[in-house]
Amino acid sequence: RADTALYAAKLAGRGRSRLDDLDSTELAHDLAQALAAGDVRAWFQPVVSPATGTLVGVEALARWLHPERGLVRPDEFITVAETTGLILDLGAAVLADACRGAVELARVHGPGLLLTVNVSGRELVAEGYGDRTLAAVRASGWPLEQLVVEVTESLLDASSGPALQALHRLRSAGVRVAIDDFGTGYSAFSRLDTLPADYLKLDHGFTAQITTSERRAGLLQALLSLSDALGLQVVAEGVEHEEQAALLASLGCPLAQGYLFSRPLPLDELLAAAPARQVARTTVGTVVEAVT
Ligand code: C2E
Ligand code: MG
Ligand code: MG
Ligand code: MG
Repeated sequence: RADTALYAAKLAGRGRSRLDDLDSTELAHDLAQALAAGDVRAWFQPVVSPATGTLVGVEALARWLHPERGLVRPDEFITVAETTGLILDLGAAVLADACRGAVELARVHGPGLLLTVNVSGRELVAEGYGDRTLAAVRASGWPLEQLVVEVTESLLDASSGPALQALHRLRSAGVRVAIDDFGTGYSAFSRLDTLPADYLKLDHGFTAQITTSERRAGLLQALLSLSDALGLQVVAEGVEHEEQAALLASLGCPLAQGYLFSRPLPLDELLAAAPARQVARTTVGTVVEAVT
């Protein structure tokens, strides 16, 4: 069923998926149907070591495979999913699909890969979120220690008791936590040591400046050593240029992801593109993703 949807989505073409002509009620209705039909899937973007290009893990990213409109990216439906509460079903569907995919990927790549998934605040504070998530991951056979949930920093301010509680529940079962989009908002260095986190994901906007501003490069260097001292691993997102990867490697940044290494891919293409543990640049970076 879902492979038919993928085929149809590809036929419907790339970059033609704007849903602008739908109002939010129609969009919510269509999204609910898509979720029921299994048309919202996980795609995977490789996370690599910038020094070697070695595959370390994958980030699962939601894709709506719309039979008429083609591939729809999350910025067109996550907000509606959050405001309507559909995000709970969406998160569960993407998590299950992601775990299924990761189990297959591990058959090709061997053990030890990380799987990261994005989680919205609305999910995190929902009653029973931690236990439901743990049960779903256990049922899939994916090891809890190799799951990372990505949350944004703003979810974790002082007022977010339930969110923190859910994260503690997950962490006590072995799941890791990443702070996503770090460096976009009011990222407070002073709070870094109190965040219940294992990874720090540097936002695209930050990565874009590391090779154009010496002060940014200095900030990156300081952030890397601070993170190191606090036991946090830094992931640089949005790496698009060789010079960025070279700088990250020379400063010892352990992890990176971005179009330079690979775009997000559907599972079958990721499996076909990466027979060994190496994800070669350029051979992978060019495939189907709709670019807006
Ligand atoms: P994110 O978590 O920060 O994910 C990274 C985004 O950057 C992805 O966009 C990815 O395709 C894009 N990206 C990767 N490499 C590059 C690069 O080199 N340059 C540029 N310019 N962009 C790059 P995508 O897939 O459109 O997702 C957008 C956002 O939607 C994600 O941002 C995430 O916050 C959210 N999202 C995606 N899937 C889910 C999901 O299953 N649940 C929830 N709650 N949110 C999701
Ligand atoms: Mg993310
Ligand atoms: Mg995110
Ligand atoms: Mg991000």
